[in-house]
Amino acid sequence: MTEKLFERALGRLDEAAQHMEVGAETLERLRHPTAVLAVSIPLRMDDGRLEIFDGYRVQHSDLLGPCKGGLRYHPDVCLEELKALALWMSCKCALMDLPYGGAKGGVAVDPKSLSKMELERLSRGFIRRIADFIGPAADIPAPDVYTNARIMGWMMDEYSQVVRQRTPAAFTGKPVALGGSLGRRGATGYGGYVCIRELAKRRDWVAEETTVAVQGFGNVGQEAARLLYENGYRVVAVSDSGGGVHDESGLDVPRLIRAKNEHGQVKSLYCEHSVGDEKNGEHISNAQLLELDVDVLVPAALEDVINADNAGQIKATTVIELANGPTTIEADRILDERGVTIIPDILANAGGVTVSYYEWVQNRSGEYWEERDVLARLDKRMCDQFNVVMDIAADKSLSPRMAAYGLVLKRIGAAVEAMGTAALFDGD
Ligand code: GLU
Repeated sequence: MTEKLFERALGRLDEAAQHMEVGAETLERLRHPTAVLAVSIPLRMDDGRLEIFDGYRVQHSDLLGPCKGGLRYHPDVCLEELKALALWMSCKCALMDLPYGGAKGGVAVDPKSLSKMELERLSRGFIRRIADFIGPAADIPAPDVYTNARIMGWMMDEYSQVVRQRTPAAFTGKPVALGGSLGRRGATGYGGYVCIRELAKRRDWVAEETTVAVQGFGNVGQEAARLLYENGYRVVAVSDSGGGVHDESGLDVPRLIRAKNEHGQVKSLYCEHSVGDEKNGEHISNAQLLELDVDVLVPAALEDVINADNAGQIKATTVIELANGPTTIEADRILDERGVTIIPDILANAGGVTVSYYEWVQNRSGEYWEERDVLARLDKRMCDQFNVVMDIAADKSLSPRMAAYGLVLKRIGAAVEAMGTAALFDGD
């Protein structure tokens, strides 16, 4: 599914450019990633064998500041995918008005097949390979799919040993004990929740009558589901890579989170350990979850899950993209024609990188903030940017995605203009 993902991602910028005045040089700059690094990581396995893994880091753009974006561990990681994900980071940072460009990286590995000690050695080995390429004023990695705070802690420690300086600002999403920010762990889910809350105000939704399905039950999906549940929304279905559960009367989200973290999979609670009220829950597949008759669908896992094959069957009236790139361009068109509102990934899941920015600021200043201050800043920035995007969309009769990309082009375009374009260097 990652075929031509970067080209497809650029297609959306081209489309947005048709609705805005954008200099040709801005689009041209965004077509070419700043730098791409591919490495091999030799790993001594616990049983003595040697395995070699491929790792990558793509810096898409440094027009607005140092490059920023996550590192993922997944068997499907490849350059094409990372280039698209890095482009989306450039867009996300510009949209949130953060002083960053975009990057993404990762290792092609199934992390679930490694022991904890193999995982630590792989993470440290990867950083030794890319240490010259990254750094607090150059390129700052963070967690992404199947990486977490502990892995960021190992990476920061390894980087600090390579450069012989304790450098917490080289990574974000670290454990709080190693310089991480309070509020970072749940920040992406929190940002998604703010989008739903603000949309609810515009649409006069009543939380108790609004049904939600969440695809993906990692850190991001769990936090969004928890906040929705706590604020009265009816979360009727959640799923992870092993399948999902559905209960029209509403799921007990805190219980599901406990089950997921104890048994590893959400379906275990309902299928093997079902008790009490929850026995009403039915087991469903990921594909079935996406097509449920709900008000809000929250894809919070991987790319391209809503595509030309299933877009015609999606019944939700609103999609909140907590994953990166969950909807293909073809699916966008189908959903648009059917009047489905999509809050795009570069807005809906931008809470994570926003608090990464706050973490970086705290690391560089040496002064640490209370959790309520972090969340108050996150809430305000998400709320402001959400409303700016929705107002542009309403004024210009654009989809929220096209309005968001239009704003991105305007902000990155201002940096391109400031450095001088053909109009300045016209031979005089
Ligand atoms: N991986 C996250 C994202 O896709 C966070 C990136 C960051 O914090 O730098 O937005």
